[in-house]
Amino acid sequence: MSHAKALNARRTEAREYQTPASGIFFTVAKVLYTGRSRFQTIEVIRNRDYGRILLLDGLVQTTERDEFYYHEMLVHPAMASHPKPERVLIVGGGDGGALREVLKHPVKSATLVEIDNQVIDACRAHFPWLRAAFRDPRAELVIADGNVFIEKTPERFDVILVDSSDPVGPSTVLHQEAFYRKLKSRLKPGGVIAAQAGSLMLHQDSHARKSAFLAKMFRHARLYLGPVPAYPVGMWCYDFLSDRVDPTAARKLRVPGGLKYYNPDIHRAAFALPNFIKERLWERPRPGPGGQA
Ligand code: SAM
Repeated sequence: MSHAKALNARRTEAREYQTPASGIFFTVAKVLYTGRSRFQTIEVIRNRDYGRILLLDGLVQTTERDEFYYHEMLVHPAMASHPKPERVLIVGGGDGGALREVLKHPVKSATLVEIDNQVIDACRAHFPWLRAAFRDPRAELVIADGNVFIEKTPERFDVILVDSSDPVGPSTVLHQEAFYRKLKSRLKPGGVIAAQAGSLMLHQDSHARKSAFLAKMFRHARLYLGPVPAYPVGMWCYDFLSDRVDPTAARKLRVPGGLKYYNPDIHRAAFALPNFIKERLWERPRPGPGGQA
Protein backbone atom coordinates (compact mmCIF):
# COMPACT_ATOMS: atom_id res chain seq x y z
CA MET A 1 0.00 0.00 0.00
CA SER A 2 1.37 3.44 -0.89
CA HIS A 3 -0.26 5.55 1.87
CA ALA A 4 0.92 8.58 -0.17
CA LYS A 5 -0.05 12.02 1.01
CA ALA A 6 -1.08 14.84 -1.29
CA LEU A 7 -0.26 17.68 1.12
CA ASN A 8 3.24 19.14 1.10
CA ALA A 9 5.18 19.57 4.34
CA ARG A 10 4.00 23.20 4.77
CA ARG A 11 0.40 22.16 4.03
CA THR A 12 0.08 24.96 1.47
CA GLU A 13 -0.47 22.73 -1.56
CA ALA A 14 -1.93 19.31 -2.38
CA ARG A 15 -0.59 17.41 -5.39
CA GLU A 16 -1.90 14.29 -7.03
CA TYR A 17 0.75 12.52 -9.08
CA GLN A 18 -1.39 10.86 -11.74
CA THR A 19 1.77 9.35 -13.23
CA PRO A 20 5.35 9.85 -11.99
CA ALA A 21 5.59 12.65 -14.57
CA SER A 22 2.30 14.54 -14.48
CA GLY A 23 -0.67 15.35 -12.28
CA ILE A 24 -2.83 18.06 -10.75
CA PHE A 25 -2.26 20.48 -7.88
CA PHE A 26 -4.52 22.50 -5.59
CA THR A 27 -3.44 25.38 -3.39
CA VAL A 28 -4.84 24.91 0.10
CA ALA A 29 -7.27 27.49 1.50
CA LYS A 30 -7.71 25.31 4.61
CA VAL A 31 -6.77 21.82 5.75
CA LEU A 32 -10.02 20.34 7.08
CA TYR A 33 -8.92 16.82 8.03
CA THR A 34 -5.89 14.55 7.88
CA GLY A 35 -5.72 11.02 9.20
CA ARG A 36 -4.46 7.55 8.50
CA SER A 37 -6.88 4.64 8.79
CA ARG A 38 -6.04 0.91 8.72
CA PHE A 39 -6.51 1.12 4.97
CA GLN A 40 -5.35 4.47 3.65
CA THR A 41 -4.25 8.08 4.16
CA ILE A 42 -7.26 10.42 4.25
CA GLU A 43 -7.01 14.16 3.54
CA VAL A 44 -9.79 16.73 3.19
CA ILE A 45 -8.79 20.24 2.08
CA ARG A 46 -10.54 23.34 0.80
CA ASN A 47 -9.42 24.95 -2.46
CA ARG A 48 -10.66 28.24 -3.89
CA ASP A 49 -11.87 26.75 -7.19
CA TYR A 50 -12.95 23.20 -6.30
CA GLY A 51 -14.25 23.73 -2.75
CA ARG A 52 -13.81 20.74 -0.43
CA ILE A 53 -11.67 17.94 -1.82
CA LEU A 54 -11.32 14.38 -0.49
CA LEU A 55 -8.03 12.61 -1.25
CA LEU A 56 -7.20 8.99 -0.38
CA ASP A 57 -3.57 7.86 -0.58
CA GLY A 58 -2.82 11.10 -2.41
CA LEU A 59 -5.49 10.60 -5.12
CA VAL A 60 -8.50 12.89 -5.62
CA GLN A 61 -11.74 11.02 -4.86
CA THR A 62 -14.29 13.79 -4.97
CA THR A 63 -14.52 17.58 -5.03
CA GLU A 64 -17.41 19.75 -3.97
CA ARG A 65 -17.44 21.61 -7.30
CA ASP A 66 -17.39 18.73 -9.77
CA GLU A 67 -18.72 15.70 -7.86
CA PHE A 68 -22.07 15.80 -9.67
CA TYR A 69 -20.49 14.98 -13.04
CA TYR A 70 -19.09 11.75 -11.62
CA HIS A 71 -21.90 10.68 -9.31
CA GLU A 72 -24.69 11.37 -11.82
CA MET A 73 -22.85 9.45 -14.56
CA LEU A 74 -21.99 6.50 -12.34
CA VAL A 75 -25.56 6.13 -11.07
CA HIS A 76 -28.18 7.29 -13.58
CA PRO A 77 -27.32 5.42 -16.80
CA ALA A 78 -27.87 2.13 -14.92
CA MET A 79 -30.81 3.31 -12.79
CA ALA A 80 -32.60 5.01 -15.69
CA SER A 81 -32.18 2.02 -18.05
CA HIS A 82 -33.41 -0.60 -15.58
CA PRO A 83 -37.21 -1.03 -15.81
CA LYS A 84 -37.77 -1.14 -12.02
CA PRO A 85 -34.70 -0.72 -9.81
CA GLU A 86 -35.92 -1.42 -6.28
CA ARG A 87 -32.93 -2.97 -4.48
CA VAL A 88 -29.60 -1.24 -5.03
CA LEU A 89 -26.09 -2.04 -3.74
CA ILE A 90 -23.21 0.44 -3.76
CA VAL A 91 -19.71 -0.98 -3.19
CA GLY A 92 -17.31 1.72 -1.93
CA GLY A 93 -18.69 5.24 -2.28
CA GLY A 94 -17.94 6.35 1.29
CA ASP A 95 -18.31 10.01 0.33
CA GLY A 96 -22.07 9.43 -0.07
CA GLY A 97 -22.49 11.08 -3.48
CA ALA A 98 -23.60 7.91 -5.29
CA LEU A 99 -26.03 7.11 -2.46
CA ARG A 100 -27.57 10.57 -2.74
CA GLU A 101 -28.14 10.03 -6.48
CA VAL A 102 -29.63 6.53 -6.03
CA LEU A 103 -32.12 7.88 -3.49
CA LYS A 104 -33.50 10.27 -6.13
CA HIS A 105 -35.14 7.17 -7.66
CA PRO A 106 -38.15 5.41 -6.06
CA VAL A 107 -36.02 2.54 -4.67
CA LYS A 108 -37.03 0.32 -1.76
CA SER A 109 -33.50 -0.01 -0.37
CA ALA A 110 -29.98 1.25 -1.03
CA THR A 111 -27.17 -0.59 0.77
CA LEU A 112 -23.73 1.03 0.83
CA VAL A 113 -20.78 -1.23 1.69
CA GLU A 114 -17.69 0.80 2.51
CA ILE A 115 -14.51 -0.72 3.95
CA ASP A 116 -13.27 2.32 5.82
CA ASN A 117 -15.31 3.80 8.65
CA GLN A 118 -12.84 6.68 8.89
CA VAL A 119 -13.70 7.84 5.33
CA ILE A 120 -17.38 7.89 6.33
CA ASP A 121 -16.60 9.91 9.47
CA ALA A 122 -14.42 12.43 7.59
CA CYS A 123 -17.06 12.86 4.89
CA ARG A 124 -19.91 13.08 7.40
CA ALA A 125 -18.05 15.97 9.02
CA HIS A 126 -17.05 17.82 5.84
CA PHE A 127 -19.42 16.78 3.02
CA PRO A 128 -22.96 17.56 4.16
CA TRP A 129 -24.69 15.47 1.46
CA LEU A 130 -23.55 12.28 3.19
CA ARG A 131 -25.37 13.23 6.36
CA ALA A 132 -28.52 13.96 4.34
CA ALA A 133 -28.35 10.68 2.35
CA PHE A 134 -27.97 8.56 5.49
CA ARG A 135 -30.99 10.13 7.15
CA ASP A 136 -33.13 8.52 4.43
CA PRO A 137 -34.85 5.42 5.89
CA ARG A 138 -34.19 3.45 2.67
CA ALA A 139 -30.40 3.75 3.15
CA GLU A 140 -28.35 1.11 4.96
CA LEU A 141 -24.64 1.44 5.74
CA VAL A 142 -22.45 -1.65 6.10
CA ILE A 143 -18.80 -1.28 7.09
CA ALA A 144 -17.12 -4.22 5.37
CA ASP A 145 -14.86 -5.22 2.51
CA GLY A 146 -17.13 -5.24 -0.55
CA ASN A 147 -15.45 -8.40 -1.80
CA VAL A 148 -16.25 -10.27 1.42
CA PHE A 149 -19.77 -8.80 1.69
CA ILE A 150 -20.68 -9.97 -1.80
CA GLU A 151 -19.57 -13.52 -1.00
CA LYS A 152 -21.68 -13.70 2.11
CA THR A 153 -24.85 -11.77 1.38
CA PRO A 154 -27.91 -13.89 0.55
CA GLU A 155 -29.54 -10.85 -1.10
CA ARG A 156 -29.89 -10.11 -4.77
CA PHE A 157 -29.98 -6.65 -6.27
CA ASP A 158 -31.54 -4.96 -9.30
CA VAL A 159 -28.63 -2.55 -9.67
CA ILE A 160 -25.08 -2.82 -8.29
CA LEU A 161 -22.81 0.25 -8.46
CA VAL A 162 -19.06 -0.11 -7.95
CA ASP A 163 -17.86 3.26 -6.65
CA SER A 164 -14.36 2.05 -5.85
CA SER A 165 -11.10 3.91 -5.73
CA ASP A 166 -8.54 3.14 -8.44
CA PRO A 167 -6.89 -0.31 -8.29
CA VAL A 168 -4.43 0.40 -5.49
CA GLY A 169 -4.69 -0.65 -1.83
CA PRO A 170 -8.02 -2.09 -0.61
CA SER A 171 -9.68 -1.42 -3.96
CA THR A 172 -7.42 -3.68 -6.03
CA VAL A 173 -9.70 -6.68 -5.55
CA LEU A 174 -12.72 -4.69 -6.79
CA HIS A 175 -11.24 -4.53 -10.29
CA GLN A 176 -10.66 -8.28 -10.71
CA GLU A 177 -12.52 -10.94 -12.67
CA ALA A 178 -13.36 -13.05 -9.60
CA PHE A 179 -15.12 -10.06 -7.99
CA TYR A 180 -17.25 -9.45 -11.08
CA ARG A 181 -18.28 -13.13 -11.14
CA LYS A 182 -19.49 -12.77 -7.55
CA LEU A 183 -21.30 -9.51 -8.36
CA LYS A 184 -23.04 -11.16 -11.29
CA SER A 185 -24.25 -13.99 -9.05
CA ARG A 186 -25.91 -11.40 -6.76
CA LEU A 187 -27.89 -9.72 -9.55
CA LYS A 188 -31.61 -10.32 -9.91
CA PRO A 189 -32.74 -11.40 -13.38
CA GLY A 190 -32.48 -8.37 -15.65
CA GLY A 191 -30.09 -6.65 -13.24
CA VAL A 192 -27.48 -4.05 -14.17
CA ILE A 193 -23.99 -3.29 -12.86
CA ALA A 194 -22.26 0.07 -13.37
CA ALA A 195 -18.66 0.57 -12.27
CA GLN A 196 -16.19 3.39 -12.40
CA ALA A 197 -13.48 2.32 -14.84
CA GLY A 198 -10.74 4.91 -14.65
CA SER A 199 -9.22 7.55 -16.88
CA LEU A 200 -9.76 7.64 -20.61
CA MET A 201 -6.09 8.26 -21.28
CA LEU A 202 -4.10 6.88 -18.36
CA HIS A 203 -5.78 3.52 -17.78
CA GLN A 204 -6.15 2.15 -21.31
CA ASP A 205 -4.25 -1.05 -20.63
CA SER A 206 -6.37 -1.90 -17.62
CA HIS A 207 -9.55 -1.12 -19.63
CA ALA A 208 -8.44 -3.51 -22.32
CA ARG A 209 -7.71 -6.29 -19.80
CA LYS A 210 -10.96 -5.74 -17.89
CA SER A 211 -13.06 -5.39 -21.02
CA ALA A 212 -11.80 -8.73 -22.29
CA PHE A 213 -13.20 -10.65 -19.31
CA LEU A 214 -16.34 -8.50 -18.95
CA ALA A 215 -17.28 -9.03 -22.60
CA LYS A 216 -17.23 -12.79 -22.00
CA MET A 217 -19.23 -12.51 -18.79
CA PHE A 218 -22.10 -10.20 -19.87
CA ARG A 219 -24.23 -10.04 -23.01
CA HIS A 220 -24.15 -6.24 -22.83
CA ALA A 221 -20.72 -5.02 -21.62
CA ARG A 222 -20.41 -1.41 -22.67
CA LEU A 223 -17.91 1.27 -21.78
CA TYR A 224 -19.27 4.81 -21.53
CA LEU A 225 -17.69 8.19 -20.92
CA GLY A 226 -18.26 11.40 -19.03
CA PRO A 227 -16.19 14.42 -18.04
CA VAL A 228 -14.95 14.87 -14.46
CA PRO A 229 -12.78 18.01 -14.39
CA ALA A 230 -10.56 17.13 -11.39
CA TYR A 231 -9.90 13.49 -12.42
CA PRO A 232 -6.91 12.51 -14.58
CA VAL A 233 -7.19 14.18 -18.02
CA GLY A 234 -10.73 15.29 -17.22
CA MET A 235 -12.52 12.43 -18.99
CA TRP A 236 -13.69 9.35 -17.07
CA CYS A 237 -14.82 5.86 -18.09
CA TYR A 238 -17.55 3.63 -16.66
CA ASP A 239 -18.64 0.03 -17.36
CA PHE A 240 -22.31 -0.80 -17.96
CA LEU A 241 -22.91 -4.55 -17.58
CA SER A 242 -26.08 -6.57 -18.00
CA ASP A 243 -27.35 -9.73 -19.63
CA ARG A 244 -30.74 -8.25 -20.40
CA VAL A 245 -30.61 -4.45 -20.47
CA ASP A 246 -29.01 -2.83 -23.51
CA PRO A 247 -28.36 0.78 -22.44
CA THR A 248 -28.60 2.09 -25.99
CA ALA A 249 -31.93 0.38 -26.71
CA ALA A 250 -33.88 1.47 -23.61
CA ARG A 251 -37.20 2.79 -24.89
CA LYS A 252 -37.89 4.88 -21.82
CA LEU A 253 -35.21 6.23 -19.52
CA ARG A 254 -36.47 6.89 -15.99
CA VAL A 255 -34.75 10.17 -15.18
CA PRO A 256 -35.44 11.84 -11.83
CA GLY A 257 -35.92 15.62 -11.74
CA GLY A 258 -33.37 18.15 -10.54
CA LEU A 259 -30.19 16.64 -12.05
CA LYS A 260 -27.33 18.93 -13.05
CA TYR A 261 -25.57 16.83 -15.70
CA TYR A 262 -27.37 13.67 -16.81
CA ASN A 263 -30.29 13.67 -19.26
CA PRO A 264 -31.43 11.36 -22.11
CA ASP A 265 -29.25 13.13 -24.72
CA ILE A 266 -26.20 12.81 -22.48
CA HIS A 267 -27.10 9.12 -21.94
CA ARG A 268 -27.08 8.39 -25.67
CA ALA A 269 -23.92 10.42 -26.30
CA ALA A 270 -22.02 8.78 -23.42
CA PHE A 271 -22.03 5.38 -25.15
CA ALA A 272 -20.43 6.76 -28.33
CA LEU A 273 -16.72 5.95 -28.15
CA PRO A 274 -13.76 7.51 -29.97
CA ASN A 275 -11.94 5.28 -32.48
CA PHE A 276 -8.76 4.95 -30.44
CA ILE A 277 -10.77 3.47 -27.56
CA LYS A 278 -12.85 1.17 -29.77
CA GLU A 279 -9.67 -0.18 -31.27
CA ARG A 280 -8.37 -1.13 -27.83
CA LEU A 281 -11.60 -2.70 -26.59
CA TRP A 282 -14.00 -5.44 -27.47
CA GLU A 283 -15.95 -2.92 -29.51
CA ARG A 284 -13.42 -2.97 -32.33
CA PRO A 285 -15.08 -1.49 -35.44
CA ARG A 286 -16.55 -4.54 -37.16
CA PRO A 287 -15.76 -5.00 -40.85
CA GLY A 288 -18.68 -3.75 -42.91
CA PRO A 289 -19.60 -4.65 -46.49
CA GLY A 290 -16.47 -4.64 -48.60
CA GLY A 291 -14.29 -5.03 -45.52
CA GLN A 292 -14.75 -1.42 -44.34
CA ALA A 293 -14.87 -0.83 -40.61
N1 SAM B 1 -15.19 8.50 -7.10
C1 SAM B 1 -14.00 7.97 -6.61
C2 SAM B 1 -12.92 7.76 -7.61
O1 SAM B 1 -13.20 7.21 -8.67
O2 SAM B 1 -11.81 8.19 -7.34
C3 SAM B 1 -14.27 6.84 -5.69
C4 SAM B 1 -14.80 7.43 -4.45
S1 SAM B 1 -15.15 6.47 -3.07
C5 SAM B 1 -14.57 7.59 -1.89
C6 SAM B 1 -14.10 5.08 -3.05
C7 SAM B 1 -14.27 4.31 -1.75
O3 SAM B 1 -14.06 2.92 -1.94
C8 SAM B 1 -13.30 4.74 -0.64
O4 SAM B 1 -14.00 5.39 0.38
C9 SAM B 1 -12.65 3.44 -0.19
O5 SAM B 1 -12.45 3.37 1.23
C10 SAM B 1 -13.68 2.41 -0.67
N2 SAM B 1 -13.12 1.08 -0.83
C11 SAM B 1 -11.90 0.73 -1.28
N3 SAM B 1 -11.76 -0.60 -1.28
C12 SAM B 1 -12.93 -1.13 -0.82
C13 SAM B 1 -13.40 -2.44 -0.59
N4 SAM B 1 -12.61 -3.50 -0.84
N5 SAM B 1 -14.66 -2.61 -0.13
C14 SAM B 1 -15.46 -1.54 0.12
N6 SAM B 1 -15.06 -0.26 -0.07
C15 SAM B 1 -13.81 -0.06 -0.54
